[in-house]
Amino acid sequence: MPDKTTTNETLGDLLDQGYGLNGHCQNCNRSAPIDVQMLVDRLGRKFIHLFGNLELKMRCTNCGQKQLQINLAAPLRYTSRNDRPD
Ligand SMILES: [Zn+2]
Repeated sequence: MPDKTTTNETLGDLLDQGYGLNGHCQNCNRSAPIDVQMLVDRLGRKFIHLFGNLELKMRCTNCGQKQLQINLAAPLRYTSRNDRPD
């Protein structure tokens, strides 16, 4: 096990590490990427997005319900190797 622990529990961590967020509405079934920079501007870099904190702040832009499920999207640099054209 690597000794160095990388945390990504705050919005600032997500921004620094290139993570994205995806929101999924359990009411209308709409899924959409969430702009992490926008969240940092609104909530601050120290905001901890875990434990449902973020879900409490978010509202579906389609139906207006607060039944969002928010998932972490891995940094692009880690997933791009799966997207090679060959
Ligand atoms: Zn919705």
